[in-house]
Amino acid sequence: MTEKADVFKCRECGCIVTVLKGGKGSLDCCGKPMIVVTPDEAKKLSFDLARPGAP
Ligand SMILES: [Zn+2]
Repeated sequence: MTEKADVFKCRECGCIVTVLKGGKGSLDCCGKPMIVVTPDEAKKLSFDLARPGAP
């Protein structure tokens, strides 16, 4: 199911993980499965992360 780059997010701590190579199984964080973030959402998130200090 996983192909190309998928972005996962932990609902508990907000941790974001990018999977560049698809694999089997799911990612866990804080003892719970991480949710898949859509590419659009991921873009937004990374934009937010890169924003501080930007001109
Ligand atoms: Zn977590």
